[in-house]
Amino acid sequence: MDVDTDIDKHFQQLQDQKRMLLMAKSRKGEVPRDRKPPQVAYHQFMMSHMFRAGLAQSNENMIRSAFVPPAYQPCTTPIMKLQPIKINQLQLETHHRGRYIVLKVMTPPMRMTGILALGADANGDIVLLHMYNQEEENVREATDIVDVGMIVLVKEPYYKLTASKDYALRVDHLSDMVRLNEDDTMIPPQWMSRISEIHDSFEPHKAKADASMKKEKWWKAIRDYTAAIELGPPPDRLEIIKRNRALAYLKTKQYDAALADTGWPGFGPQPAEKALFRAAEALYHLRRFSESVAVLETLHATFPDNAQATFNLERAQKRHTEEETGCYDFKALQREAEHICPPHLDHATYIGPIKMKETAYKGRGLFVTKRVKAGDLLLCEKAFALAYVPERDEERSAGNGDITLLINIETEKGFMGGQADLIRIIAQKMYLNPSVAPAFTSLYHGDYGATPITFVDGNPVVDTFLIERTMALNVFGCPNSSLATHKRAMNNESMVDNVYHSCGIWPQASLINHSCTCSARRSFIGDMMVVRATRDLEPGDEVTFWYQIPHFKANMRDKLKGWGFVCDCALCQDAKQTKATVKKERTKLRAALTEKCNSPVPSHKAMERLIDKLEATYAVSPDLVPRLGHWDAQMQVARIYAAKGNMDQAFKSACKVLVFLGFSLDDSKKGFEIKKWGMVLDYLIDAFMFIGSALIELKALASAKKAYQYAKTVYRIVVGEDETFEKTYEDHVF
Ligand SMILES: [Zn+2]
Repeated sequence: MDVDTDIDKHFQQLQDQKRMLLMAKSRKGEVPRDRKPPQVAYHQFMMSHMFRAGLAQSNENMIRSAFVPPAYQPCTTPIMKLQPIKINQLQLETHHRGRYIVLKVMTPPMRMTGILALGADANGDIVLLHMYNQEEENVREATDIVDVGMIVLVKEPYYKLTASKDYALRVDHLSDMVRLNEDDTMIPPQWMSRISEIHDSFEPHKAKADASMKKEKWWKAIRDYTAAIELGPPPDRLEIIKRNRALAYLKTKQYDAALADTGWPGFGPQPAEKALFRAAEALYHLRRFSESVAVLETLHATFPDNAQATFNLERAQKRHTEEETGCYDFKALQREAEHICPPHLDHATYIGPIKMKETAYKGRGLFVTKRVKAGDLLLCEKAFALAYVPERDEERSAGNGDITLLINIETEKGFMGGQADLIRIIAQKMYLNPSVAPAFTSLYHGDYGATPITFVDGNPVVDTFLIERTMALNVFGCPNSSLATHKRAMNNESMVDNVYHSCGIWPQASLINHSCTCSARRSFIGDMMVVRATRDLEPGDEVTFWYQIPHFKANMRDKLKGWGFVCDCALCQDAKQTKATVKKERTKLRAALTEKCNSPVPSHKAMERLIDKLEATYAVSPDLVPRLGHWDAQMQVARIYAAKGNMDQAFKSACKVLVFLGFSLDDSKKGFEIKKWGMVLDYLIDAFMFIGSALIELKALASAKKAYQYAKTVYRIVVGEDETFEKTYEDHVF
């Protein structure tokens, strides 16, 4: 939704790649005889490694483009049931199902789109290994994933021709590559013998892990603690090792594993302080706030001097209150959205009076369960995943990282910047914490044959291509905050274009269907999406918002076709039923009206005449079909009256703006009131402010106050909250 999908500029690349793909296909099944000799491959790799390192220091941003291969499924066969294969047996463009390959890493890793390294098999043959969706360098060093001397096992290897006509093993699924321990039985014996340091007691492993913890080498520590545990230490030592490993798991964001290591939920008769603390921490990050509160209460009662525990308890209680009541300190949220970068806010999701139901034609949808008023909070959802891209070009170019471009040759769809990163972010999140995966995977209802197996060899199976397909229909583009966007619009700072570079997944909001005449709107405060009603709703009414903002010129049918549904709202019905001649007439009148609006001394009379003519082209009233083509000109008419000092007409004209947008109202000076809400556009804040000022001039103070309240309600819908309203509009006096 409203995300940057413009890949036309990379058209040439796409065409080249398609040719490559065809050429590669023609070599399917071939065992290449022209593999580079190991020394040559090694030398070339190390040269480009040095070249890359030089580029990284130059602080320049690079476009890292990559091509998504035809979808293939991750390996779901346990390693024990796979058969070995060697490099000289690999066939091009083939998924070697039922096979595995063991490689010793020969080079340091190199980051491109993904991580590259050279690996050798037991024969001494060498192959380029290309691993996608691995964590970014600032989260996990590439040398921690592959480095010289490490031994890795690739399941069901996929051997292919690369864009640079090299041969490589491509690993798209995180679960398809396993790092082997030094004493793993899958390691060829000739490699085993060279490894001197194999312990048969757990203590040396534990000591090594403890030392890694001190150096903050969390992944390394996890491996050694695991090795220690596998050697079967006595129960009291086992408990300590697991507790330590829990901390390393917390540091690497593996909350499921951390929780399991603490002994939760039983903890035993005398729970250790650290075990309770770490369990509460894991639960908090898994967003299980009430359970986190329960553990922290026990901790606080048993160890009252633990100040950090007291702090964490209060923090967890706040989150629990947020998710139960929908009461947030919105000013604090706005401050955080402004200062935390990327804007991952630490707040809970509130699901208001809404529930999911099947709809007749549009699949699932959300419906309100009780009466709500315009501006009421329906949902305040924390992103499942967010890929942050700075909004302004100057911030982007200030060394804020390379831009990734992913192109799917099958669908000819591109994922640019944030979206390409989002696939990796989601894959990592689900791989590290399988318990949260269903929130995302349940969104997919297409025909991609996803594997039903979610674990193999004790590890989660994460299908990258299923993520890509699920994302395509559920991703939202987002500003870093709707307030910042609104302020920029107020200062007439034009946005470069109307698409956002940051994007994310909000699973609850994903269930909301589109309607051009919607009943709700979304706004963003950092990575929190706020959904508020745009009109009064009755139980059973559907919650809908815009995927794309309707515009009088746009053909919504085309704009929405990517989502695979046809909007049947009154606006779209009208567009369908209106004859071509009438549409032509409207366009002509609209052009004449725009010309009048832009004239140096616009005449309200001429404009009103044209507006009347436009009105006459409609068969139905504006409360059914809002007048997107002339409400704005009507607002200008109101301003012209105000400039002439005719406040009576200014007020009446502004009321007409509301009517054109589908509102029903009492437009008398003393009794000004909205009976039914219409389309809530950002500009309505100004319109209501204008009406308020006009009513003050007309000495209708009570009505002016009402208009001011309506402006505040629109602000709440557009920005997400109204606690910052006075500050944003402090120059406007009522
Ligand atoms: Zn529509």
